[in-house]
Amino acid sequence: MSRPIRSIIHYAALQHNLRRVQLKAQNAKVWAVVKANAYGHGLKNVFDALRGADGFALLDLDEAQQLREMGWRGPILLLEGIFEARDLEICSRLGLWHTVHNDAQIEMLSAHKTQQGHRVFLKLNAGMNRLGFDPLQFRSVWSRLNAMHQVEEISLMCHFARTETAEDIMESLRVFHETCLDLPGERSLSNSGAILGHPDIVSKVSVAEDWVRPGIALYGASPDPHQKSADQLGLLPAQSLRSEIIGLQTVRVGDRVGYGSDHVAQQNMLIGVVACGYADGYPRAISQSAQVFFEGGVRCNLFGRVSMDMMTVNLNPVLERGLQPRIGSEITLWGNTSEGITLPIDEVANYAGTIGYELMCAVAPRVVVEQDAVPI
Ligand SMILES: *Cc1c(COP(=O)(O)O)cnc(C)c1O
Repeated sequence: MSRPIRSIIHYAALQHNLRRVQLKAQNAKVWAVVKANAYGHGLKNVFDALRGADGFALLDLDEAQQLREMGWRGPILLLEGIFEARDLEICSRLGLWHTVHNDAQIEMLSAHKTQQGHRVFLKLNAGMNRLGFDPLQFRSVWSRLNAMHQVEEISLMCHFARTETAEDIMESLRVFHETCLDLPGERSLSNSGAILGHPDIVSKVSVAEDWVRPGIALYGASPDPHQKSADQLGLLPAQSLRSEIIGLQTVRVGDRVGYGSDHVAQQNMLIGVVACGYADGYPRAISQSAQVFFEGGVRCNLFGRVSMDMMTVNLNPVLERGLQPRIGSEITLWGNTSEGITLPIDEVANYAGTIGYELMCAVAPRVVVEQDAVPI
């Protein structure tokens, strides 16, 4: 058998999360955002569960190609658009829609020979100052695109820098609304944070929205865990990272555990060695307050540094429950235990000073991925 670490992808959770987003997004069509290999879940592992979406949005042409090979004939949107002129040939061939956010992309498009006009999403910089045209240039760029035979249809999009509070998004909405005003075309504004946090504002107060762009919500983590947890948002984890105990050590007061010998036992302890390290994507910088779940959900603290292939945990809480850890006992790093108890990825991310997004994207290729056939 291979090393016991597994990433289990929960089909039913993906479907559930998509439905949850669709409900919140009301009449808007949904781009399922599957960039970065579906946030680390594997495009092919999520495709079937998410095919109820209206389109897929991503960055990489080879991922777009994979979707076509898997049989997706619907819309695919390149969120960063093209990077070089020959990307346009692939867009023409695969029928990809692409974002236009800089002048170089427009130059390339105007030189592109195509029979079939492209569908583009023209991006406005509504205050985030990452991608997109300045509000003052936006309308003239729109007119230029509109006059090009290479362009069949122009949609309008922007992206929110913050979605914690209503005020955060109102400012960007105001810029978008003032700039786009009477311009025709479909609109796309909201990421998970806006869809789940402020659907009323985005859809009613300012501009009606035609397409939403959820990513993280589909994978069952919260866009902003300090406001609302994934559980409070009604989302289910789409990925569980589980491994097993591969070593047990009984340590006495004063004994040291792990690299650097800087973790000194203050009490007698049963240490479990878990087959999961930073080369699997578990963050080495995580705080010692981080916890894992033993089997059904007994919380155990890390004890000692996370190394490349292993980590060490204090199993005393397991003994206190009268349970006996053994080689092969299941350890859940995040997501669900096989009994369905959830250790939120957002909680683990918080211990590592990061966000759930980063952890799920960082699961290493060496981790075996399995599909969960069991409905949850
Ligand atoms: C990644 C991305 C999204 C999805 O964001 P989430 O916070 O994961 O919902 C939406 N729009 C754009 C342009 C993106 O790059």
